[in-house]
Amino acid sequence: MRIILLGPPGSGKGTQGDFIEKKYGFPKVSSGDLLRQAVKNEALLDEEVEGALNCGRLVSDDIIMLMIKDRICQEDCRKGYVMDGFPRNLNQAKMFEEINGKRKEIVLDIYLSEKTLIERLGARRICPQCGAIYNMKLQCPEKEETCDVCGVRLVRRQDDELHVIKERLRVYRNQEKTLIDYYKQKGVYNKIDGEKNIEGVFSDICEIMDKAIA
Ligand SMILES: [Zn+2]
Repeated sequence: MRIILLGPPGSGKGTQGDFIEKKYGFPKVSSGDLLRQAVKNEALLDEEVEGALNCGRLVSDDIIMLMIKDRICQEDCRKGYVMDGFPRNLNQAKMFEEINGKRKEIVLDIYLSEKTLIERLGARRICPQCGAIYNMKLQCPEKEETCDVCGVRLVRRQDDELHVIKERLRVYRNQEKTLIDYYKQKGVYNKIDGEKNIEGVFSDICEIMDKAIA
């Protein structure tokens, strides 16, 4: 079984991926996490990767494909896995098809309006000391703009600045349509209402998952 999460930045698909991992035992494979790790390990041409991450552009399909392939061939992915942030375009989807493409597949597309996305992403803050993430709309700290644990002032992540957010959404929307059409044609596409709260979204996802597993 492989589950593919689609949805723009701010749709909460990372969180939903964690929930799926917890409930169903399929590890979440996040292309963003793999990239950040790679940058830390300096395993790749980190300037290209880091530059792309910081300004919301994307890294080349081949580099990402290598990392993904390496990850999903590991033992814990034998029964299945949840993809977060990959594939992002039609080319990647086709490349992905070549690696255990015979697995049963479910695509979950978390849909939200542009307005909600910009509100959510613009409200995100991070603690520069411990890395805790807050959201001024959804998970406020006790004291305004201050980390509950460290008491230091929260900052915006570099890729949460408005112009970067808009660029990320623009790139996403450009790629999204062909990807959606591709998975619709395969008959594995499911659209999820992302305007609901986290629990509501997850319960819709579980309904689809339970049907697929049964
Ligand atoms: Zn902190």
